[in-house]
Amino acid sequence: MGKKDIDWGNLGFGYIKTDYRFVSNYKDGRWDEGVITGDSDIVLNECACVLQYAQTVFEGLKAYTTEDGRTVTFRPDLNGERLEHSAERLKMPVYPKESFVEAVKKTVRANEDFVPPYGSGATLYIRPYMFGSDPIIGVKPANEYQFRIFTTPVGPYFKGGAKPITVRISDFDRAAPHGTGHIKAGLNYAMSLYAIVDAHEKGFDENMYLDAASRTKLEETGGANIIFITRDNKLVTPKSDSILPSITRRSLVYVAKEYLGMEVEEREVYLSELSDFAECGLCGTAAVVSPVGKIVDHGREICLPAGMESMGPVTKKLYDTLTGIQMGRIEAPKGWIVEI
Ligand SMILES: *Cc1c(COP(=O)(O)O)cnc(C)c1O
Repeated sequence: MGKKDIDWGNLGFGYIKTDYRFVSNYKDGRWDEGVITGDSDIVLNECACVLQYAQTVFEGLKAYTTEDGRTVTFRPDLNGERLEHSAERLKMPVYPKESFVEAVKKTVRANEDFVPPYGSGATLYIRPYMFGSDPIIGVKPANEYQFRIFTTPVGPYFKGGAKPITVRISDFDRAAPHGTGHIKAGLNYAMSLYAIVDAHEKGFDENMYLDAASRTKLEETGGANIIFITRDNKLVTPKSDSILPSITRRSLVYVAKEYLGMEVEEREVYLSELSDFAECGLCGTAAVVSPVGKIVDHGREICLPAGMESMGPVTKKLYDTLTGIQMGRIEAPKGWIVEI
């Protein structure tokens, strides 16, 4: 065993094949034990439910090396729990969260040589996912499923400092009321591709989506929840049934309250309030927090006072505290850091 010869600091966010992955099959009403395999290819029938009707859900988390050299993941039980909810909503069998955490550990352990060293800024991204695998042509749930986990090393999200980004208020909707916005399903991403390519072509980094019913309230971006900091240092984050419950956002809310003594408001946030905020950030596993410097609503530019040069001071404190907890520099709440 020895770490792979990879230039960790210069990795991007792309797929690099690692040595092993986990596979478990669901058939005749039960999951098998699952195995670690070297085979990265999947052979499916042409009529597999996932190919015809997109019956698939996924998760995303990271393994990394702490300051004292342990290989850990961050709150994997919450990913397991969220995958259970996602599966239920798409009428897929639940892969139990306890087995999920064990499978994550097995997969990371098998790929230990790909876990980047402490200080490199890189991490091993873990992608658990599940899909309907048997042939289905009449619209109904599949009978057979595969649950898999692969890993891929990814580089530091911010190379040379976290530069604030520009987002636009999107004319496209991400999630309908009573729809599937709150689950982590590929279908929510397939339909966001048009909007993100369009945003990039027009010079924006991301789409900020509104609630589809009234188009007056802020929800989230395509793959990250939103936090705001008010001028008097409160953390405000949108609350809605169609937002994906980000583990990073939930952790930041806890950190704000319990570590930084901040007031937190989880509530409906109106588009009309945007100019009241001092800072804005997008939160998700990949970046932890990406600072937003400017929000453009159909030509109306809202420039956050934190500016376009660096992360706002309160966002920075939240970011430093959460990443400090993750990396073992600051004491973590019980159960947050799970050793592999
Ligand atoms: C995965 C995801 C997030 C971020 O969730 P984390 O658990 O923090 O990684 C936010 N929004 C959407 C739509 C997502 O799919």
